[in-house]
Amino acid sequence: MPLTPAKIQHIQRQVIHWQASHGRHDLPWQHNVSAYRVHVSEIMLQQTQVTTVIPYFERWMQDFPSLSALAAASEDDVMAHWQGLGYYSRARNLRKAAAHLADEHNGEYPNDLKALNAIPGVGQYTAGAIRSFAFNDYGPIVDGNVKRLYARLFAIDGEPNSSAFNKIMWQYANSLTPEASGAFSQGVLDLGATVCKKSQPLCQACPLQSDCLALKQQRIAELPNPKKRKIKPVKDAHFVWHTDSADQLLLIKRPSPGIWGGLWCLPQHDEVPANSELVGEFTHQFTHYTLNAQVWRAAADQVNEGLVENGKRMAEFRLQSVHELSAVGLPTPIRHFIENVIALRQPTNN
Ligand code: SF4
Repeated sequence: MPLTPAKIQHIQRQVIHWQASHGRHDLPWQHNVSAYRVHVSEIMLQQTQVTTVIPYFERWMQDFPSLSALAAASEDDVMAHWQGLGYYSRARNLRKAAAHLADEHNGEYPNDLKALNAIPGVGQYTAGAIRSFAFNDYGPIVDGNVKRLYARLFAIDGEPNSSAFNKIMWQYANSLTPEASGAFSQGVLDLGATVCKKSQPLCQACPLQSDCLALKQQRIAELPNPKKRKIKPVKDAHFVWHTDSADQLLLIKRPSPGIWGGLWCLPQHDEVPANSELVGEFTHQFTHYTLNAQVWRAAADQVNEGLVENGKRMAEFRLQSVHELSAVGLPTPIRHFIENVIALRQPTNN
């Protein structure tokens, strides 16, 4: 459906007016706004709920208040601040972004969509968000909530993850976004998140109800169309549990890039280590597969076998007290597994 200039202006006004009185204004990154704060918050908010992000964001800003503070931080320190948020490549990319901005832009954020898009870990959405919220310039955005809003507002069918559907969504965003886009971008995000909700949208409270084709056509329940379900593959993994006489657990640093890259972890082997006994099992859901993990208690020589190749040690390692795990960045399922093992054995030790 082609949008006339009058229609675009009407939608912009409705959204901006609604955002001023009903939108969100008190999120931590909406205060002392800077490109750095917007960038960090947007990266944290990818795949993660606002309520989960808030304490992480506040701790991050306390310890890395600026790009230069982040650039100077060690990888271990950065990963420890991300622990529990998942998708750790986001934290690694933030560090890389700080270095990139120092090298290419004198430690400043460029006010340019293409240059923002070239920052490591910054895609089309985040570039638009930084330009919109930090500079209040033209920065179109499309996330899952905005897609739902536009799919209903303009009654657009299509597989929501397909490139054809995404292209249409971005065309709408490009057309609808005003030159000074901060309030409008915040408005569509807020509308998608709080009014045009997945189930039972609050159409009576929606500033766009007179424009909404899905409402007019009674197609709200079927728009956006359901995503195609994919069957996730299952991968097996074997981890090794080895403690020394002082109850220190052997941890290795995961190679980066890769799953849990840069985090400390139990050593992983391709096969069950020889002469080992099962400590326990856990399952973890990644976006693209299910991990079935078994953890084996093994002697030092068996652990070494997995870490040493042609006489050369392949991984950075450390011995960490099982009672001081908070000092290191561990993947959440590994941390939970270790804590469960320790908790279960407490009664026999006391
Ligand atoms: S009227 Fe209802 S379905 Fe349409 S955009 Fe508003 S909340 Fe969404």
